[in-house]
Amino acid sequence: MKHFSPFLLSFLCLLLFSCQSSVNTGQQATSATEQTEWAIILHGGAGNFWNGNIPSEKKKAFEKSMLEALAIGETILENGGSSIDAVEQAIHFLEDDSLFNSGRGAVLTNEGTAELDASIMTGNDLNAGAVAGVKTVRHPISAARMVMENSPHVMLSGEGADYFAKEEDLEIVENDYFITSARKAAYDKRMKKEQEKMGTVGCVAIDKNGNITAGTSTGGMSNKKWGRVGDSPIIGAGTYANNQSCGVSATGWGEFFIRGTVARDIAALMEMKNYSSQEAADEIIQSKLPSIGEQNATGGVIVIDHTGTISYSFNTIGMLYAFSNSKGKRKFGLYD
Ligand code: ASP
Repeated sequence: MKHFSPFLLSFLCLLLFSCQSSVNTGQQATSATEQTEWAIILHGGAGNFWNGNIPSEKKKAFEKSMLEALAIGETILENGGSSIDAVEQAIHFLEDDSLFNSGRGAVLTNEGTAELDASIMTGNDLNAGAVAGVKTVRHPISAARMVMENSPHVMLSGEGADYFAKEEDLEIVENDYFITSARKAAYDKRMKKEQEKMGTVGCVAIDKNGNITAGTSTGGMSNKKWGRVGDSPIIGAGTYANNQSCGVSATGWGEFFIRGTVARDIAALMEMKNYSSQEAADEIIQSKLPSIGEQNATGGVIVIDHTGTISYSFNTIGMLYAFSNSKGKRKFGLYD
């Protein structure tokens, strides 16, 4: 009988392990063992979502929209397209849907204007682009991609970012385009309800070449001071991607996510401490964040690691998420 050397055996085990993927559903990790060619996960913000009792027609509307956005990304990935196109196009769809706090339907600043933030990062080359405080770009996620691909910079802000987007031939709109009657009514009443903070969107995908992209787009926090920049456009806070570990998109109270370098910390735990993506996400969201800001440090993350494993974690009552992979796993969820 032929004997395998211990080295060969561990190599085979490693190979087997790296061909597996799993879907880790929330705080309870599971480990399905399926090979996956591509995977994608979206979030639509974290918050208290009517204290766990979302009206059913609202839930249906969120579900329909998130699954449509997911389908856009799925088609790109299934046809061999890149994770960057999948992330950009899925987020495009959500930026146009006024249900979400990104693009049209963004929450308003204390001056009653919409100021949008977005970022994108590719895990094969650690390239990244971001815009902060843009007021006229219809699709901030595309402006972030243009900063990454067509400028020597990582982040542009304010008027300079709007000007750059125009020069890049991206669609420009009046600021009023983003302001829906629902957001205006909330602003007029100066309501500071939890619902107003939800709805940031994000997407992480891995394509057939093993390339991971993460992207995030938001109107920020309602009644924020004009000029305020949250975590969403900050690489390492709201968005991060590295093919060696994972891609992350975050949502929540941005100041704490910046102070906690949330997205990068999750990748770092995987790279340096061999955490699984679920363990890393839980460590940061359930433990580290609350230790910084107690009950205010709320929010969640979506993660896809280099094996295609999908994970997420949130410390709010709910987080809108939808994910799928090439093996036909497909799910929309809100509470866990
Ligand atoms: N993180 C976003 C911000 O602070 C808001 C959110 O995700 O709900 O700007």
